[in-house]
Amino acid sequence: MPSVFIKTYGCQMNERDSEQVASQLVAKGYALAPSEAMADVILLNTCSVRDAAEQKAYGKMQTLAKELRRTRPDVVLGFMGCMAQSRGKELIDRLPDVDLVVGTQKFHRAADYVDDILNGKRNKVVDVEEETGSQATIREHVLGGNGHRAVTAFVSIMQGCNQYCTFCIVPYTRGTERSRTIADIVCECRELVAQGVKEITLLGQIVTSYAKRDLPLQNGKSPFVQLLEAVHNIDGLERIRFTSPHPKGYGDDLVEAYGRLPKLVESAHIPVQSGSNRMLKLMHRGYTRERFLGIIEKLRKVQPGIGITTDIIVGFPGETEEDFEQTVSLVREAEFENAFIFKYSPRKDTPAATMPDQVPQLVKEERNHRLLQFMNELGSRKYNQFIGRHVQILVEGPSKRNAARMSGRTRCNKIVVFDGSERHRGQVMDVKITRVGSFTLYGDPAILE
Ligand code: SAM
Repeated sequence: MPSVFIKTYGCQMNERDSEQVASQLVAKGYALAPSEAMADVILLNTCSVRDAAEQKAYGKMQTLAKELRRTRPDVVLGFMGCMAQSRGKELIDRLPDVDLVVGTQKFHRAADYVDDILNGKRNKVVDVEEETGSQATIREHVLGGNGHRAVTAFVSIMQGCNQYCTFCIVPYTRGTERSRTIADIVCECRELVAQGVKEITLLGQIVTSYAKRDLPLQNGKSPFVQLLEAVHNIDGLERIRFTSPHPKGYGDDLVEAYGRLPKLVESAHIPVQSGSNRMLKLMHRGYTRERFLGIIEKLRKVQPGIGITTDIIVGFPGETEEDFEQTVSLVREAEFENAFIFKYSPRKDTPAATMPDQVPQLVKEERNHRLLQFMNELGSRKYNQFIGRHVQILVEGPSKRNAARMSGRTRCNKIVVFDGSERHRGQVMDVKITRVGSFTLYGDPAILE
């Protein structure tokens, strides 16, 4: 039985795409290798959002080619995903040991291509064409692992992006927005719940734009809110999350859904990118700082305990110290629980890459460091407020850092580590928070109180 190892770079969408390819290979009789060392097929599912991610994957493939080809000439090496899409055949030209390049609309073909290459039916394959209907092909799952059932699952609801933020490569690597049908998504969610899944995270580049062009509003509700309602109706499902939304998608219908749909957890990751209106305009984000803060205020009115996190880019072209200070003050005002902070990375063919006043690397690093420190202080204050409180968690499995302990998540998306055992997996339980680590809570099951 040939074995395959898939290494994934980047976002949850990429994780989900890798899972799909893995499940199709398993269906063909392949085994999933725990590491690249002995695998017959090694696939790198890549990310292009920042240059560092591309360099990492490229460097990894160079090492694999150098180290493995000499000893195991038959091993199949492939690139998949965003970098495969944006670079195409260039990857094989630069790294002739690569056998396979599969773009973002072709994940469902990867297993056939691997099979053909292993069986000598094809030599090299590059497939980065567009494919109508590819958004509906990401549906099979590899649940659990080590014989344990999975408690949480990701479900891809759409592909592509139409926002064209001036810094972002995604519309070029993932194509235009294409959504699955509500019936198809609900069917997949039902199957997952039947297999023991308790929490589903709906995935897309901008989930709040789901089916905007395909479905009309219903009683003022957007197609995305209609989808949330349909998934909410599934018996046995405990929690619904989604990522990533766009601030412009937080109409009153979605804000109100947080108060109305108990399975929709009190958590939102809303990328703001900058606190300066001048930068937001140059980024083509389509909202102002005031509108963003207004959304946060409305959400907190409906759900006071909601945990709000964000993405921020520092050092976007033209960002002055004053613009940056506005981002710091927005972070303070919004009281984020956490933020992913990125140094602007110029991307091929995006408008921002050729904008004037590119910010020097040293300045980006210094701003990144300052904002990170501020975020850590803010986060620590927020997390400390949990000490002594009872929270409800869904237990996901052993803690990543210490497998002797169990780990779960609060509804507001905070990780809680506690002394438990496998019997707790999948349980929704009450835990009393006793101490706080760096963006982690530690708790005691509150059963005896
Ligand atoms: N679709 C989401 C949105 O923008 O609303 C985010 C998806 S993107 C894969 C994740 C994050 O990467 C973005 O929110 C942004 O902060 C960051 N990012 C995207 N392009 C970037 C670039 N060129 N340089 C640095 N960070 C970038």
